[in-house]
Amino acid sequence: MLHAKGVNKTYKNKVQALKNIDLDLCKGEFAVLLGLSGAGKSTLLRCINGLVPIDSGDIIFENQSVLERNKLTRLRKDIGMIFQQFNIIKRLSVLENVLCGRLAYNSSIPSSLRLFPKEEVEWALTCIEKVGLEDKALTRSDQLSGGQQQRVGIARALAQKPKLILADEPVASLDPYSSEEIMELLHKINALENITLLMSLHQVDLAKKYGKRIIGLKGGHIVFDQLTPEVTRDD
Ligand code: ADP
Ligand code: ADP
Repeated sequence: MLHAKGVNKTYKNKVQALKNIDLDLCKGEFAVLLGLSGAGKSTLLRCINGLVPIDSGDIIFENQSVLERNKLTRLRKDIGMIFQQFNIIKRLSVLENVLCGRLAYNSSIPSSLRLFPKEEVEWALTCIEKVGLEDKALTRSDQLSGGQQQRVGIARALAQKPKLILADEPVASLDPYSSEEIMELLHKINALENITLLMSLHQVDLAKKYGKRIIGLKGGHIVFDQLTPEVTRDD
């Protein structure tokens, strides 16, 4: 479903964040990008959904290249993104956050001018239920714990009906207990909703416990790419 070939990315400050990256991802995979801070994980995820433009090579998702800029909106609809800092609007309720994410891809009419159609609200509530926040739909997001706020981020991604979810260090801001809960939830989403997952992590233990495949990044290079049982600590 995803095919990256010879991808290079150098930022304006001359930092070469990605060096000749080749990566193929099949439907249904749960793959982890594992690497230290600065390895290029975040850059790679951002390049895949077109948030960061690549310098050379190509990334093809479901037969569409990220180089075709005019198709980016369509591409981003099929690719959901989850962030380390959740990126939700804290003064809005859970339901409003989930609806906002969906509307962003839905119409050329500014969202502020639209009423929320009943089906949109029902679908948003279904997604909120999928992440276990059905009791909190009308609660302001800033009253939630970190783990719950990340659940809002996940519900917002799900509401898009994505084929692929990219998660950039989704548990790096969370305590160990909440981290496991979020990883369990992502595992469930991958298994039950048949949504392909590519996530970055810096914790080897979590990567080995939940990832089916581990892709090691170091200094902008892929240094290994193996199914999880074959990965040793030395990798
Ligand atoms: P532009 O010239 O397009 O504005 P910049 O290089 O100034 O791009 O950076 C864009 C964004 O990336 C800014 O928000 C900046 O803070 C952030 N940024 C810049 N350098 C780094 C870095 N080394 N690591 C992470 N983020 C960075
Ligand atoms: P990771 O997600 O593995 O921590 P990043 O992709 O954030 O790695 O960063 C890879 C390299 O690119 C680092 O050296 C980082 O400082 C640099 N970098 C990241 N974002 C920017 C940016 N916007 N502008 C300049 N340099 C950046």
